Amino acid sequence: MKVTIEQDKCVASGQCVTAAMEVFDQRDEDGIVVLLNAEPPADQAEDVRQAAAVCPALAIAVEE
Ligand code: SF4
Repeated sequence: MKVTIEQDKCVASGQCVTAAMEVFDQRDEDGIVVLLNAEPPADQAEDVRQAAAVCPALAIAVEE
């Protein structure tokens, strides 16, 4: 799985971090998403799919 984010779309809502905290974090200063791991292991894949699904800004793309 390959993950990409678009920081200019992110509205700092934080759902992605709640869904997959090993893969996503938020910048301290403004809450914009930070990608911790662009190629997460299989056991995190479902959490990452969930994060992409709940992102209100559609700022997370997942390539299987
Ligand atoms: S869920 Fe989407 S909008 Fe919210 S912090 Fe994560 S990437 Fe940004």
